[in-house]
Amino acid sequence: MIIHVALGVLRMFATVLGDLLLPHGCAGCGIPDAVLCGRCGSLFGDVHERPLGGHESCLTCAVYEGAVRHAILSWKDHGYEACDDRFADSLVTLVDGRIPPRGVCCVVPVPSSDKSIRRRGRWHTRQLSRAMVSLIRRRGREALLVPALCMRGNAGKSVEIGHGGQRVARANRRIHVRGRRQTLLRGRTVVVVDDIVTTGATMARCANILRRSGAGDVICVALAHAVDRRHEGDRGEGHG
Ligand SMILES: [Zn+2]
Repeated sequence: MIIHVALGVLRMFATVLGDLLLPHGCAGCGIPDAVLCGRCGSLFGDVHERPLGGHESCLTCAVYEGAVRHAILSWKDHGYEACDDRFADSLVTLVDGRIPPRGVCCVVPVPSSDKSIRRRGRWHTRQLSRAMVSLIRRRGREALLVPALCMRGNAGKSVEIGHGGQRVARANRRIHVRGRRQTLLRGRTVVVVDDIVTTGATMARCANILRRSGAGDVICVALAHAVDRRHEGDRGEGHG
């Protein structure tokens, strides 16, 4: 715990120092003085409905390629945390008309493995979900961050040596709902948040678990979806 806090403080200083010495430009194209320039930002303004199998589908803002891919990787793997609010805005716009005007909406991040969280220094979909909750509240509705899903156990090296499909399948089997958080979901609209949807298997599993745990409406959202399987290696962890 103390080590985590110390690492967090060190990271914060490193980020501040980094921003002073090497100011980030646009996360998508690198032009100066913008977290996301107008052109790259507009790429996150679409509405795509990607089937996940069965009756399930996932809404995404963009196709995972070009500047969109660059922006997402800058954010999730290179610590460009200033994108949290900008990406949250795109996702909230995506779900705005679908969450009920009354009642509490639960925002649930897709889980990351402990290893990925250690490597990145944060659980990026959780931070994104937190930013979404703030925005939904600012728009006058009740929202709760409920990190109800987790990856249980350690799949060890078999996760690393498996090819993409095996890796995703093994990681998906490890996703579970946290018992005590389950009660917060009952009967409520739940928005599940991921960064990229590739095969859709991870999102489908999350939606399935949440429904079985008593969630009401389950709305799946992600920043982008991959149009083919070539980009799966970029994900860096067992999402699908
Ligand atoms: Zn740009």
